[in-house]
Amino acid sequence: MRNSSSTPSVSSRRSFLAASGVALTGLAGSAAGQPPAAPPPRPAAPSGVPDKGPQIGDDHRGPCVIASGNGPNATARAFEVMSAGVDPSEAVVAGVKLVEDDPNDTSVGYGGLPNEEGVVELDASVMHGPTHKAGAVAGLRNIKNPAAVALRVLQRTDHVLLVGDGALRFARAQGFKEENLLTPESHAAWLRWRESMGADDWLNPEERDWPRPGRKSLEEFLAEEQRQSRVPGDGEPIPFTWGTIHCSAVNASGDVGSCTTTSGLSWKIPGRVGDSPIVGAGMYCENAVGAAGSTGRGESLIVNCGAFSIVQFMASGMSPTQACLAALKRIADNTLEKRLRNERGRPNFNASVYALRKDGAYGGACLYPGGSFAVTTSDGVTKVHPCVPLFDAM
Ligand code: ASP
Repeated sequence: MRNSSSTPSVSSRRSFLAASGVALTGLAGSAAGQPPAAPPPRPAAPSGVPDKGPQIGDDHRGPCVIASGNGPNATARAFEVMSAGVDPSEAVVAGVKLVEDDPNDTSVGYGGLPNEEGVVELDASVMHGPTHKAGAVAGLRNIKNPAAVALRVLQRTDHVLLVGDGALRFARAQGFKEENLLTPESHAAWLRWRESMGADDWLNPEERDWPRPGRKSLEEFLAEEQRQSRVPGDGEPIPFTWGTIHCSAVNASGDVGSCTTTSGLSWKIPGRVGDSPIVGAGMYCENAVGAAGSTGRGESLIVNCGAFSIVQFMASGMSPTQACLAALKRIADNTLEKRLRNERGRPNFNASVYALRKDGAYGGACLYPGGSFAVTTSDGVTKVHPCVPLFDAM
């Protein structure tokens, strides 16, 4: 680690503070998983957050893993790994790997839909409650498991976020394998999108003479052949076709960890970074309070500090579901651009958020019906539940 004479290292800063008599009790307390003596001032909830009554997860206590609805395999795996004594922040990375590796999930890892140039760019972040440290990568190309790279940033560097070519070089140096992340299906989807763009030199399907009537194209034949030769392995994850994955965990000692990983918005402008690798937007945790994460329109989650605000609302005494609804209400209230509002003045997009409190209570909410979350509870049982919608309809 860099240790220039003008910038004291973390350990030398600590010795300086200790030598100068500055109390380190706050630091030591949070490292040991103890709640701070007096919580910092917290924001008030936006007005008009509906009271939706008692919810699934309010009364749950003990170890727990929550994820977006595409993650029942991830929560089950993370719970298994965490139960064997692995830290929650590493367990959630092991859990989301199943979805990153799944070619059928078109918005995470391998098989994720590419940017407008047909290149897959991945974003991910991880946070460790006991040290309040985070690691993240954005715009990472050719590496299937960006969450594992984000974890290395957390564990082995003094930085939080590495992007683009720097993130790739770091991943290479850490021994990650480079590979093509496009599947035949995600490549075909990109081609269809590119060809449908209108007046240019790319022929739309209806402008082409191929395949000849009654004939299968060579491409279709090869894609079919490849699909048939693929034998699903034991315990392979259930295929889903959508969804960034967020996953948060709390263990029996009340330590929390959180992770979000995605290929982001399909057909994005190269270099576009969503909320997933942004600490406080796509995921966030505080060991004295709990963890939260999000999926959906990343730009709205960034400008509203989505995951951070959920954790703050939980710290102010709200249940996980209430805290999620309060954060979504803030997003709805702050959606002021005309192009993002429908005729009722509501957001014309959806977002889902997930929260897990230090004591094991959990919940999920979405702007509009449709979102779901997966949870593995202290009894080891995994279920998928609908998120509680802020609004019943657009
Ligand atoms: N939040 C992700 C992003 O904006 C996308 C999603 O969750 O669907 O990159």
